[in-house]
Amino acid sequence: MPIQPTDKIWMDGKLVDWEDATIHVLTHGLHYGSGAFEGIRAYETPKGPAVFRLPEHIHRLFRSAKVYYMEIPFSEEELVQAVMDTVRENDMSACYIRPLVYRGYGEMGLNPLPAPVNVLVAVWSWGRYLGEDSQERGVRAKVSSWKRLDHNILPPGAKATGQYLNSSLAKVEALNAGYDEAIMLNTAGYVTDGSGENVFIVKDGVLFTPPFQAGCLDGITRDSVMALAVDLGYQVVERNLSRFDLYTADEAFFTGTAAEIAPIRSVDDREVEVAGRGPVTKALQKAFFEAASGREPKYDRWLTYVGA
Ligand code: PMP
Repeated sequence: MPIQPTDKIWMDGKLVDWEDATIHVLTHGLHYGSGAFEGIRAYETPKGPAVFRLPEHIHRLFRSAKVYYMEIPFSEEELVQAVMDTVRENDMSACYIRPLVYRGYGEMGLNPLPAPVNVLVAVWSWGRYLGEDSQERGVRAKVSSWKRLDHNILPPGAKATGQYLNSSLAKVEALNAGYDEAIMLNTAGYVTDGSGENVFIVKDGVLFTPPFQAGCLDGITRDSVMALAVDLGYQVVERNLSRFDLYTADEAFFTGTAAEIAPIRSVDDREVEVAGRGPVTKALQKAFFEAASGREPKYDRWLTYVGA
């Protein structure tokens, strides 16, 4: 789906027209992948648009930037405000939000430190990332031949732009082979993430998801789903998962800001026990969307209302 332009993009402190939000071809980040980004969503609520877990996303952006020695020339509070302003200015009721911190124009070469650090926030409408019916029917996943980045190659906890070449290789391989999404293992052979999602399985009523040590991103949807699952009375266990665990799961699903909660129908052509959307996945989806759309007071603290 091509991006539908919105009105304004926030660039280094100013809202500029969508078509004027351009940068020089010799921008450092374009050549060396020297950037860090976030993916956030705003949802429609009875009190107007609200951004889901905004401070947590901005905090992760700062952590990603820190790994790459990028000093963001704004505070976390200022970027929280920038996101709110951008959503409001574009009159979006629900949208996807993309903050990006990148090494800008002025210097070339593999030492990024002399290059400036620039920041932008863009918003646009983005529907179901894994397909319109993905959240009901589920998706077909393929274990990738590409391993996910190892802690001592590029830190998998950082959401850095260049690191996503690894995810893109896995994604394209899966799509070319006729699947919807990839699941990446680490170099020891344990499950890490989808190309842009965390992975959960359900076995005998218990939820399992890989620990951070395995090399997954500390997904904010993952964290939300874990809290909601405990609330609903499920046990959640973080432990290494193997292909066998995926192939023999009762239910499996991806979580991510873009994908939200997407059931996994099959892995490498082995259907999970409840192929499609199982009862646990369905209960979590319901709880998640109630929280995100401001219909569950207990989770109001996860929402930042954009205001009029
Ligand atoms: N893993 C990877 C590799 C990702 O890119 C993402 C998307 N940010 C996730 C997991 C899910 O994270 P979140 O729920 O914070 O969007």
